[in-house]
Amino acid sequence: MSRDQDSKETFYPGPSRSHLAAFPPKERWDDWTELDSRAWPQRKERHYSIVPTTCFNCESACGLLAYIDKVTGEVQKFEGNPEHPGSRGRNCAKGPATLNQVTDPDRILYPLKRTGKRGAGQWEQTTWDEALDTIAERIRKAIIENRRHEVMYHVGRPGEDGFTERILAAWGIDGHNSHTNICSSGSREGYQLWMGLDRPSPDHANAKVILLISAHLESGHYFNPHAQRVIDGKANGAKLIVFDTRLSNTATHADYWVAPYPGSEAAILLAIANYLIQNDLYNREFVERWWNWREFLEAEGSGATDFGNTDFSDFEKRLKRIYQEYTFEFAASESGVEAKVIEEIAKLVATAGTRFSSHNWRSVASGVSGGWSVARCLFMLNALLGAIATEGGVYPNAWNKFVPRPIYTPPHPKMWNETTWPREYPLSMNEMSFLLPHLLKDGRAKLDVYFTRVYNPVWTNPDGFSWIEMLTDPELVGCYVAVTPTWNETAYYADYVLPMGVGSERHDLHSYETHDSQWLGFRQPVMKAARQRNGETIGDTREVNPGEVWEENEFWLELTWRIDPDGSLGIRQYAESKKNPGTRLGVDEYYEWIFDNSVPGLPERAAAENLTPLEFMRRYGAFEVKEKIGRVYEERVPAGELEDLNEDRFGRIFTRAAKPAGPNIVPLPSPDGDEEGRRLAGIAVDGTVKRGFPTPSGRLEFYSSTLNNWGWPELAIPTYFKSHVHKDNLEEGQTILISTFRLAVQIHTRSANAKWLDEIAHTNPLWIHPSHASKLNVRTGDLVRVETEIGYYVVRAWVTEGIRPGIVACSHHMGRWKLTDEGQRQLMATVKLDQKGTEWSLKREKGIEPYESADKDTLRIWWKDAGVHQNMTFPVHPDPISGMHCWHQAVRVRAAEPDDKPGDIFVDTKKSHEVYKKWLAMTRPADKFSPDGTRRPYWMLRPLKPAREFYNLK
Ligand code: SF4
Repeated sequence: MSRDQDSKETFYPGPSRSHLAAFPPKERWDDWTELDSRAWPQRKERHYSIVPTTCFNCESACGLLAYIDKVTGEVQKFEGNPEHPGSRGRNCAKGPATLNQVTDPDRILYPLKRTGKRGAGQWEQTTWDEALDTIAERIRKAIIENRRHEVMYHVGRPGEDGFTERILAAWGIDGHNSHTNICSSGSREGYQLWMGLDRPSPDHANAKVILLISAHLESGHYFNPHAQRVIDGKANGAKLIVFDTRLSNTATHADYWVAPYPGSEAAILLAIANYLIQNDLYNREFVERWWNWREFLEAEGSGATDFGNTDFSDFEKRLKRIYQEYTFEFAASESGVEAKVIEEIAKLVATAGTRFSSHNWRSVASGVSGGWSVARCLFMLNALLGAIATEGGVYPNAWNKFVPRPIYTPPHPKMWNETTWPREYPLSMNEMSFLLPHLLKDGRAKLDVYFTRVYNPVWTNPDGFSWIEMLTDPELVGCYVAVTPTWNETAYYADYVLPMGVGSERHDLHSYETHDSQWLGFRQPVMKAARQRNGETIGDTREVNPGEVWEENEFWLELTWRIDPDGSLGIRQYAESKKNPGTRLGVDEYYEWIFDNSVPGLPERAAAENLTPLEFMRRYGAFEVKEKIGRVYEERVPAGELEDLNEDRFGRIFTRAAKPAGPNIVPLPSPDGDEEGRRLAGIAVDGTVKRGFPTPSGRLEFYSSTLNNWGWPELAIPTYFKSHVHKDNLEEGQTILISTFRLAVQIHTRSANAKWLDEIAHTNPLWIHPSHASKLNVRTGDLVRVETEIGYYVVRAWVTEGIRPGIVACSHHMGRWKLTDEGQRQLMATVKLDQKGTEWSLKREKGIEPYESADKDTLRIWWKDAGVHQNMTFPVHPDPISGMHCWHQAVRVRAAEPDDKPGDIFVDTKKSHEVYKKWLAMTRPADKFSPDGTRRPYWMLRPLKPAREFYNLK
């Protein structure tokens, strides 16, 4: 065989652009042959149809290939999809473990309806028709009676950009509630303040220096796609710096691992910034062109107010003066990291130029009050170096993401829901979801229909007992519907439990900022696609999924149809087929329309293979829309978009021309317009109109007029300030608990139904440094009590040098529980809950045990522990600006009492309500601080924006 033939046969030529020897060439996906390993030494062939889909086990949306055995008709295994530009054929352990979720003997197979009291564990099987009619009738009534704020949809994992937001918009309700303020709002806020977009898209593979305040080699946003590119970068010679108080797997790969005192990271970052500033090592041209320094000077009262007459050197002098206090010694005193190490890191960062990639995801930004300023100070380094949208730098996320235009776009809801967007938090990044029980208990609202969708707030959120109190009170929640692929702690309190498909049983579209390109991934029910490939006609996914498991998109379309069966409410039109008016829109038509009309290049690419666009996506599962997006902010705005211009003194260009129509390639600036109703089109730079950034100034916002005008002038520029767990704010004997870190093989509560993952990770001991442990006289395996503001939990200690002395840590994902035998038995212990007034306790009655089921492996279960549900003992800590729940806890750790057992929990919800009130008092509400009578700056991102007039407070 020639070398050429060999490369064709052996190496994968798809958009992964990698030489992946292990992947079947796509030409053979209809009939792929492998030898049956179990039949060895007999050479027994097995034949597969290979069908792509997208993993649903985290937000990375990596491609998967389902190997469907042609004889049994069952999925034999899942492996990576080399056609996927983001994941490039690679997956983490959770991807292939999708198979466990499909075959999980404990999965919910039929719609269930509560028969006893909420939480009593008594259910009967019901029909989809009964559930849909009952729920639709309640929603219809709430809409007709103008109680639209009583309908709420609360999402954990969205699955698809905007699908359910559009369903809610079709219903005319502002009922979207996300989990994001317990997840990533902190860093999002910091990024949004700089660039108007809330996530970074780092080009790690081409970087010279990578700085991570996250654990991207094992978890984090888009972690597998980013992890492989971090390793590519390292292989190309990049230096890796990791800030993490705990020795993560990522930290073990670092050239510099620093373990700062939690919450001090911004001090270190500003010391690095100061080094660049004082030594003139920043990108002067970039800062002059792209920072909004003129606004800053004007706000400072320099007297220079006319565009063109301000002096950049004056700004530079001020910059030097402002940041001079952030010395290496100051950063060292705050962080506990040696000044000389910080200096070495600063010098390394200075060598990166525009090849500096960085990322702050969750980590401390989700841990401490003011955590958003960590992301803001980190991005300041990119802004100083000009390492924004450059090769090896950081791109604004939306420029590396493709969201196609859908078949219908219902109008913005004509209402504002104060239960999710209370006026105390006008600058919050996302809905104040975790305050829901407190807001309802305060009598601010009640819910008639409450959905959770792939979400488990009783377990995932802080203060879970307050959630149970809310869900068991029918006066507060009329009807609770849990839409879920697997049992969870919250679903036990539902009126309806509706089983939804796992990653290989549903449709969704995805695009994420994995690198400098735009791609679209297609999740699909693989059995449906395989049978369609064989010429069968499949109706909805219940025909191919186990039991009566459905897919969500079909469910929401059907529910929308039934809310407005005759179309009189104006809702049904958004769930109606265009091809066959009068009938309900199906998912095949929904996706066919998008692929035919909204994805540039796809129809042509498909036609080249004699496929329709939908057939192409069903066959390959992903499409790269555009490679190398580049520096969008430098693009010249075409003359056609510059009608009836108005230029203000800061060079902002406003136009009356409509926004360009067509598929969204890159988001254009969209903040507020001028006083005469023109929209912001771009900014004047060097005599031309450039796209700029979607911020109020159109530039990178070193100075935030938003923070200044909405009551936070002291934080208008990147600043370090003391967090709620700063040393000065701790009491004698208190230490900090880090509770947010994730394990590489679990994902919140969604992966407990994967036996392979449970066998690897099934407990969460308390990390404690030997020096700390010896003071407490604690050894590995000893039981300790961790006391929070509202209660305590009991956990085993793990003495390790992998944590900063004096700080303790306990991982996320664990402490799963169930009240009866009903539930997921591989990782959920059986517990008893006791309530005396506002005092609650949780005690484990039975650990994990082997059991008989259709899967023989359940008899081989050897682990007993399931860890501890620590989140229950945390009160809510809403950051007054970002709204992010600040997860780090000031705790006391001590030896357990003689009667304490692993996993024990005690909480007083009266205390948790008091803590909620204390944090509420720290806010600066819109009523008092809004500069213009609105509830929230209109330019700020918000899922499902209401119509503009509903931003007005009155
Ligand atoms: S990183 Fe792992 S869990 Fe996340 S989508 Fe990729 S394969 Fe799935």
